[in-house]
Amino acid sequence: MLRPSACPGLVRVVAARDGALCRIRLPGGVLSAARARALADAALTHASGVLELTNRANLQIRGVRAGEEAALSATLIGAGLGPAGIDVASPVERACAADELRNVMLSPLAGLDPNALCDTTALAATLIDMMQREPRFATLSPKFALQLDGGERVAMLEHPHDIWLAALPHGATVRFAVGLAGCPTTHPIGTLAAGDVCASMRALLHAFLDLAGVDATRMRDVLAAHSLDALLQRAQQHGDFALMRDNAALHAWRRAASPADLRLGAHALHADGSGYVGAQPALGRIDAQTLRALAALAEDSSDATLRVTPWQGVLLPNVPAHAMAAALERLHALGLVVSRTNPLARLIACTGSTGCAKSHADTKADARRLAALLPPDAEAHLSGCERSCAAAHCAPFTLLASAPDHYDLYQRDDTQSGFGQLVARNLTIEAAALALAQRPRSTQDV
Ligand code: SF4
Repeated sequence: MLRPSACPGLVRVVAARDGALCRIRLPGGVLSAARARALADAALTHASGVLELTNRANLQIRGVRAGEEAALSATLIGAGLGPAGIDVASPVERACAADELRNVMLSPLAGLDPNALCDTTALAATLIDMMQREPRFATLSPKFALQLDGGERVAMLEHPHDIWLAALPHGATVRFAVGLAGCPTTHPIGTLAAGDVCASMRALLHAFLDLAGVDATRMRDVLAAHSLDALLQRAQQHGDFALMRDNAALHAWRRAASPADLRLGAHALHADGSGYVGAQPALGRIDAQTLRALAALAEDSSDATLRVTPWQGVLLPNVPAHAMAAALERLHALGLVVSRTNPLARLIACTGSTGCAKSHADTKADARRLAALLPPDAEAHLSGCERSCAAAHCAPFTLLASAPDHYDLYQRDDTQSGFGQLVARNLTIEAAALALAQRPRSTQDV
């Protein structure tokens, strides 16, 4: 029996209005061309052929047909999309737990950016392996998530994580700033040497589970009920907890957000002009045929891999200089957004009423209508209800559905939490576009 959760996964295929939903976690967002094809084939064989890129750099298959859930999971595990050490004969509970301990977010340029402070890919693999080997960690919530930031030029730094680690220079070496229930643009609680990260995270996770009550599934819940000192003292009881609380130095350190225009288009990383090309399907949705075409493009233009980004986009890594322009053109021809000048690059929307019973409006369709009216440089998030599935971060403007085709407009500045301040009620899409045109822009990225 699987423990109850509404969070979809590879094995935990959950019901939705448009058929069941299967989420495939991609550590580091990395997806080989062969696995992309396997995913596309599985989405057509067992589901509607519609896929979504998520804001945690994963992929999900929508519209899984009733009775085909187990066959889909087995197909995906057989294609190598499951956790390490899991095969189709593995017990369902074990496969599910191992899958749900893969929530470690990296930059889409992890291991690629020569200006990064470190390559986080090996450390991420070590952390995931450590968590999967410890039976107690199978009780962590499927939403419990870690972030490892290597200082890459493109990184999602606005999503809160239960634990985040960000590389910072320390003389000739690198240490990791550590933070809890937040993101690397906020203040850390201390630092760790790279060699101490794995053992210290193990101790911290045990301490979290020691203190977590029945309903405390996330780090913010534990910190609401216990002091930080109590948590850290508990971690020390689990041994090998090497956090240094050098707060004075950390106070001066703060990771800067990545410029939004580095996510899309062609960008050189090396002196020979080679680099990456970024794009995003409109509103994070892609069909199986387009995913197959992306696999072919990755084989023709790069190292036969794709990287899914937390902006619901894709990135072709290791593209030679001579192939950049053609790769960009092919992405554009596939219908992907390749520039911030396209209004669809500045809009995000949750699944909406076609796929989610909680939604008060068809947010995807409304976002496409809004795209045609969106003022230059304006950004907005459309949400079918207050759960805000499409935006793990706090968007500058949120249109919260109140009824079909009607939204309340919220504006948020850096001092506000959630959606921010309610500034207008019950707007049609046309009225929302007008209201966005009349309000001063936020500088925060979507
Ligand atoms: S934000 Fe609400 S309406 Fe939208 S997908 Fe999530 S639960 Fe459904």
